[in-house]
Amino acid sequence: MTTLVRAGHRAQHRVVLLGGGYVTLHAYAGLMRHAGGAVRAGDVQVVVISTDDAHSFHGFTGEVLAGLLPYDRTRTPLVDAMPHAHVVLGRATAIDAERRVVRYVLAADESDRGVDPHHHSDSDSDSDSHHERVLDYDSLVVGTGGREPATAVPGLAEHGFTLRAPGDIAVLTDRVRDAAAHRGHRRHTVVVAGGGMAGVEMAAAVADLGGARLRVELVHSGDGILPELRDEQPRLARRAELELRRLGVRVRLGVRLASVTEDLAYLSDGTSLPASTVIATIGQRPVHVPGLDAHRDPRGRLVTRPDLSVVDGVWAAGDAACVVHPTSGEPVPANALWAIKGGEHLGRNLARTLRGRPTRPFAYRGLGQAASFGVGRSISELYGIPFTGWVAWVLRLTFFLRFMPSRRKAAQVVTDFARHAAHGRTAPASAPTEPAVADLAAPRTA
Ligand SMILES: Cc1cc2nc3c(=O)[nH]c(=O)nc-3n(C[C@H](O)[C@H](O)[C@H](O)COP(=O)(O)OP(=O)(O)OC[C@H]3O[C@@H](n4cnc5c(N)ncnc54)[C@H](O)[C@@H]3O)c2cc1C
Repeated sequence: MTTLVRAGHRAQHRVVLLGGGYVTLHAYAGLMRHAGGAVRAGDVQVVVISTDDAHSFHGFTGEVLAGLLPYDRTRTPLVDAMPHAHVVLGRATAIDAERRVVRYVLAADESDRGVDPHHHSDSDSDSDSHHERVLDYDSLVVGTGGREPATAVPGLAEHGFTLRAPGDIAVLTDRVRDAAAHRGHRRHTVVVAGGGMAGVEMAAAVADLGGARLRVELVHSGDGILPELRDEQPRLARRAELELRRLGVRVRLGVRLASVTEDLAYLSDGTSLPASTVIATIGQRPVHVPGLDAHRDPRGRLVTRPDLSVVDGVWAAGDAACVVHPTSGEPVPANALWAIKGGEHLGRNLARTLRGRPTRPFAYRGLGQAASFGVGRSISELYGIPFTGWVAWVLRLTFFLRFMPSRRKAAQVVTDFARHAAHGRTAPASAPTEPAVADLAAPRTA
């Protein structure tokens, strides 16, 4: 049975935002900045459909794993971050851009059926149709991001960890903390697959936490870590290698993670490593919400026009989209900076269309990138200029604090680091077992 759900009173214009990540939060902020009056007056209604009830600030994942910040600091409930939106905890299942409707399944219905929405596969879509609800929209923003292809490596979904599914980082943090606290004779080995920014930071964080009690192996298929940095900033890539060596991380180049069992990681060269924990940062694929098939690139990302619309009434940015850089003509990288800037821009353009004004092309050119290896030990590249050590660490922290969705949490992060400087590492708070917001199943009236 398909039900038509209307999120409360039907305003003159309904904006539906899919996902609860960077794109959605910054699209909302852009919209509120330029058409907030219409939203507050009820002429424009904003509905968010997200599989997660909180925004995850992924940038501090390394600090959480290393026990420098509690997990909670990285999580901002969506209802707090977007107080004028109706938040629906559910999974978008299809987009019909011609009829301007989006289909979705409520998280509550999925949990009744024992389906895990975060590890959902497209093959489950037949059973979805019985529980699907339909919401019509005037404007739709697709910000559903990406996920690591957990099923691409046999055994990974069952025995390993990826980093983007809600809740994974909390469970992983507890696991690594337990292993680091283990006092037995056995030395736990953590295998991190993927030598990009995320993999390098995760390997460093685990090694920083575990010291001599944890063995950390970083497995990378290329001939050098940080391929996204190597060519343009070889000095920073070398510095990262030195930091990993200092932390005792063993780097294995030219091999891939081939499969995972309960206690082994098999590699593509036929060898295996004992592994109590396997963390995969093996790239990501856009989350596929069926529909708009003629507007996707070969990787499945929604191809955007210069103003970040996909077709009339549909906008996209972030990891789910292929956004072209205004000067290089290449797709922009899949990272938080571009998701934030894309979200902001399309929110502004959406507000312009509401006022009958022409949209503007996305003209943002970029800022830089950074990775951390512990307090005071970072590498940063800002407008092409490399920084290392404390300067790089402060630059990265300043940038992250500026973009955290909650001022209160940003202030807490500063306090956490100050406490760390005074008293040393504080153990991360255990992951909350209850959702940050008890019941988001029903649309909330602002
Ligand atoms: C461990 C880690 C560390 C990182 N560190 C950095 C860093 O230091 N700097 C940096 O710039 N970038 C970093 N990134 C990358 C950055 O987090 C992503 O590029 C960014 O989150 C993309 O934003 P987004 O809005 O497109 O997607 P996301 O922020 O991933 O949000 C997607 C949202 O969509 C929801 N969703 C998914 N499917 C559906 C569906 N079918 N229906 C409804 N909702 C759905 C998800 O629950 C989530 O709320 C890191 C990523 C990871 C995993």
